[in-house]
Amino acid sequence: MNLILLGAPGAGKGTQAEVICDTLKIPAISTGNILREAVKNGTELGLKAKEYMESGNLVPDEVVIGLLKERIAQDDCKNGYVLDGFPRTVPQAEALDVMGVVIDKVIDIEVADEAIQKRLSGRRVCEDCGASYHVDYKPSAVEGKCDKCGGKTVQRKDDHPDTIKDRLNVYHEQTEPLKDYYSKTGKLVIVEGQEDVKDTTALTLKAVEA
Ligand code: ADP
Ligand code: ZN
Repeated sequence: MNLILLGAPGAGKGTQAEVICDTLKIPAISTGNILREAVKNGTELGLKAKEYMESGNLVPDEVVIGLLKERIAQDDCKNGYVLDGFPRTVPQAEALDVMGVVIDKVIDIEVADEAIQKRLSGRRVCEDCGASYHVDYKPSAVEGKCDKCGGKTVQRKDDHPDTIKDRLNVYHEQTEPLKDYYSKTGKLVIVEGQEDVKDTTALTLKAVEA
């Protein structure tokens, strides 16, 4: 099964991608995580992506399309995958079609902009393993320290309040049109993001199984 998770930054795509990955035993692929790893390691890809990411802009299509193509060609993807954060533009969606990728379902997690602001400004992520926390809604057991690996939890540069506004604008302009793109194919399922993550998870799993 090939799935796409759509939604604004901070809508909870990453969390839901993990749940689906555990349930269906297919890998969750986050282009954001791949890019952040590349930035951290200072690879050629990372050097290309860094400035775009820190300013809240999208990394150019040809860069992310190339990396996605490589990733889904790997062995663990042969029974399907969940895409988290790709496609983010119409050309990226078209590139998947050109690659011959058949998408079974597109799950769009909807959360209002005001709630997104709150969520992202309180978000903290582990520098080492990428695990995600929130200062109010999901604090780590020890402040500043990852529950999973003991790494340091930090605020992403792009989670600073000014950058969040820019990312939401980019989302509305460039990513939201994908709802139309996929609703035309009959693949789009909308999940209303709930205040309690568990409730969103239940709705997402229902959408996957429907
Ligand atoms: P978010 O929490 O905003 O959903 P991600 O971790 O998915 O964040 O992505 C972080 C950043 O990485 C984006 O703001 C963008 O700069 C870059 N990025 C990730 N995926 C893509 C993509 N498919 N196309 C272009 N840029 C991307
Ligand atoms: Zn960690």
